[in-house]
Amino acid sequence: MTFDDGPHPAYTPALLDILKARRIRASFYVIGRNVARYPDIVKRMVDEGHEIGNHSWQHPLLSQLGKAAVLRELDRTSEAVFRAVQRMPVTMRPPYGALTKDQRAMIHKEREMPTILWSVDPEDWRRPGSSVVADRIVGGARPGAIILSHDIHKPTVQAMPAALDGLIERGYRFATVSMILGQRDWSKLRWRLPKVAKS
Ligand SMILES: [Zn+2]
Repeated sequence: MTFDDGPHPAYTPALLDILKARRIRASFYVIGRNVARYPDIVKRMVDEGHEIGNHSWQHPLLSQLGKAAVLRELDRTSEAVFRAVQRMPVTMRPPYGALTKDQRAMIHKEREMPTILWSVDPEDWRRPGSSVVADRIVGGARPGAIILSHDIHKPTVQAMPAALDGLIERGYRFATVSMILGQRDWSKLRWRLPKVAKS
């Protein structure tokens, strides 16, 4: 499970409660300026075993930006995450999934961050209703699926108990993005010096 665009001051903590009750670990692709505003919520995410990914500073269409602007969007966000939880995101997700092939390669080369998209999109941002969101998630899930949702929409968070319980009933287990990539458990990484403190 991945959740984009937060943290949100009310809906994200509510979602964290839902995840905690089921001992599910998720990945949050956070917006940097929201991290700067709500660092305590990001801290709670990490304390509860979730992974933080980079979703840019202010959610622009990165595909229309030049190299320096793209890196600045990512670096400001990584720095805000680092200030909040003393860890750097190790993957990124572009807003709207919009990134050129060359930009993906550039980000991987310059910041060692793979671009992570998704395989299941319930289009929850269109607000189709909580039961529709839950049905789309459960119906779309496959082994290894990366499911996209947004923790800034109340109906999405309200859809999660049914969606997650539906996945559990079908035997699915949950992992963070780094775990799927075969990397170390991100939430347990030790303090590291930021590699990208300059921009
Ligand atoms: Zn987004």
